[in-house]
Amino acid sequence: TAPALSVAGVRKRFGRTSALNGVDLEVQPGQLVGLLGPNGAGKSTLTKIACGLVRPSDGAVRIAGHPAGSAAARAVTGYLAELFRFPGWASADEVLQLHQRLARSPGDDGERAELLARVGLSEARHRRVEEMSKGMQQRLGIAQALIGSPRLVLLDEPTSALDPAGRRLVRDLLVDLRGRGVAVLLNSHLLGEVEQVCDHVTIIARGTTVASGTPPDLARPG
Ligand code: ADP
Ligand code: ADP
Repeated sequence: TAPALSVAGVRKRFGRTSALNGVDLEVQPGQLVGLLGPNGAGKSTLTKIACGLVRPSDGAVRIAGHPAGSAAARAVTGYLAELFRFPGWASADEVLQLHQRLARSPGDDGERAELLARVGLSEARHRRVEEMSKGMQQRLGIAQALIGSPRLVLLDEPTSALDPAGRRLVRDLLVDLRGRGVAVLLNSHLLGEVEQVCDHVTIIARGTTVASGTPPDLARPG
């Protein structure tokens, strides 16, 4: 079967800035891959290309065999942006309803209740976004990315606002997704975060892949 995500020779220029200079990456179904690199390395750009928000200047990106950005690719992809913002007036449940409509997902109450439970927000389902902590909003963002049971989930720095309990919850959630055969790409600038949960880590710097392997491989010197 085709990889959930395959990125080959991807380049992206923004005017004179070269954000990506040839990145290769694959995520198989049931695999949790960390995309690690310092700020400005190109992680967000790569993720936006994978979810179809940004067009690559060169190279090939496929989601389950479909070209990135195509309707077929978008239908099986979930995404949480690094700097997401939900309307302050909306409740947790309303945010998910809104995204169910945008995703043209059948949008049943059961799906929303299950997703809110999975991110520990069942009690907060009627709370408005403006009354939530940043950590709660981030967990709501993760729930939003799981609407429609995507086969590929792209999470851009999804735990930056979480306390240790929130991070543990997200780690357990990612392991559960892997068990369900979902492919996850997790962007982070923290080695500790990706090595704890990821099967495979790709390190990029200045838009280029500099290392790729299992966390123990990468920890080995030389
Ligand atoms: P990271 O997610 O690893 O922090 P980004 O993908 O956000 O890196 O950024 C990679 C490079 O591309 C940076 O130099 C950034 O300034 C530049 N960049 C990203 N998006 C744009 C844009 N829309 N216009 C111009 N430059 C951009
Ligand atoms: P998280 O674990 O999501 O990071 P925090 O540690 O920031 O959440 O907050 C702990 C609890 O305090 C939350 O579960 C929430 O019930 C409550 N809380 C935090 N910030 C706010 C707020 N701005 N308004 C109302 N309740 C809040």
